[in-house]
Amino acid sequence: MQTPVPDYLHEVLDSLREDNSGETAQYIPELANADPTPFALSITTATGSTYCAGDSDTPFSIQSISKPFAYAAAIMDRGLDHVLKTISVEASGEAFNELSLEDGTNRPKNPMINAGAIAAHSLLVGKDATAAARNQRVLDMFSSLAGRELSVDEDVYRSELTTADHNFAMAHMLRKFGILTDDVHEVVAGYTRQCSILVTVNDLSMMAATLANGGVQPVTRERIIDADTARQVMSVMAVAGMYDGAGDWLTRVGIPAKSGVSGGLVGVLPDQVGVAAFSPRLDSHGNSQRSRRIFERLSSDMDMHLFAPS
Ligand code: GLU
Repeated sequence: MQTPVPDYLHEVLDSLREDNSGETAQYIPELANADPTPFALSITTATGSTYCAGDSDTPFSIQSISKPFAYAAAIMDRGLDHVLKTISVEASGEAFNELSLEDGTNRPKNPMINAGAIAAHSLLVGKDATAAARNQRVLDMFSSLAGRELSVDEDVYRSELTTADHNFAMAHMLRKFGILTDDVHEVVAGYTRQCSILVTVNDLSMMAATLANGGVQPVTRERIIDADTARQVMSVMAVAGMYDGAGDWLTRVGIPAKSGVSGGLVGVLPDQVGVAAFSPRLDSHGNSQRSRRIFERLSSDMDMHLFAPS
């Protein structure tokens, strides 16, 4: 590529600014009323250099992008075998809020859909851990991954919790099937708090670059996720990170990714980069419309496909 990276990133954003299709997530009042205009892109290499463009300091709630990182924490806290007994790793082919339980075992199909992520949150720290300990575990880990102290957006948290009937209903079903053994309210509240952690695209690209770097934060050099767990998380992102559009995404864009309803999207290319984009208007799958198009552009311009011949 001839153009310097920052100029190229600005050019990518400018080429997509006209796309005002889609709308902010309507089922969470605080997100429905969010400013739809911020637009940002950040790339962090596995060696720790960050390049960004647009509103890269604008904070937003992490939402479902929390799921791969909390899954990593659950694996490290409880061991992969135990986590696999509770949550499967198959593509669901369904929307993020489907119950999607596996026939026979009743495990949620994967940790990237809400049912699996709620179960993953309940596994954090250890059996019988307090809700406060789980919340702290998530906040501490995400802060280490981002390389700075993060905080929770209390307004988003309250807004989402008061309209979380769907997640409560799923959690009750999980408890009925023995997948959840803890207090349903505490687990859904904890999962909602996890989704309400405030991040910027620079935080997210650093978190993704840590996965790309096999679990070692590329700037602080701290090992936060062990290498086998990082591999497990990236694999599940490839299989299920984009919900019902996951197969189309992997074949066309080829970057294991995870989206969130506030408009964020992160991608990981092992040993290379973590990428994060933000734009709050969502397409019909619940993925950020402009962020999705950024990834399509990066993949095609720079051959950033997992299976691109080298
Ligand atoms: N907190 C959101 C929920 O549970 C996350 C969904 C998403 O970001 O896709 O509905």
